[in-house]
Amino acid sequence: METDSGNPSPAMIKSSAKKSRPPPQSSVDTFAVQCNDCFKWRTLATEDEFEEYRSKQSEDPFVCNKREGVTCDTPADIEYDSSRTWVMDKPNIPKTPEGFQRIIVLRKDYSKMDVQYITPDGTRIRAAPGIVTYLKEHSEYSHVSPSDFCFASPKVMSDTVPDHIEKKSPVKKQKKST
Ligand SMILES: [Zn+2]
Repeated sequence: METDSGNPSPAMIKSSAKKSRPPPQSSVDTFAVQCNDCFKWRTLATEDEFEEYRSKQSEDPFVCNKREGVTCDTPADIEYDSSRTWVMDKPNIPKTPEGFQRIIVLRKDYSKMDVQYITPDGTRIRAAPGIVTYLKEHSEYSHVSPSDFCFASPKVMSDTVPDHIEKKSPVKKQKKST
């Protein structure tokens, strides 16, 4: 057990890909996978890598030594705690087809994340029927199937939601007045 006297500085990874169009805003800036053996979290440099692991989660779960130079003895890259808001993606979501982009946007009240796909021509699609229609209208993507897309939204881990965010409840709660 090592105790480091310096403050750990959380590294937030932001995509630096510069394109002429401003990129659609995704709420996610760090991707991490958990080792199936030691349960340490490993951050991934790219969403592509993340999707690769996620798509095979059940058949081939992630373990530390899948990464070069990393074993289960290597300290975790990141700890699950409330210094960041964590959202858990569903396992086995297919890799996003080339040219498309899967964007997840956190609602302002942190209640839910909305999944959207950006098509190669910049169209924003928010639900499965939109994908079916889009693929029908664009024969150039005949190799792409609607099943390559998944709108299942990741679960917002409520214990990592910042304190200043008021948890929404259907009934208006009275403010603490005791
Ligand atoms: Zn491990």
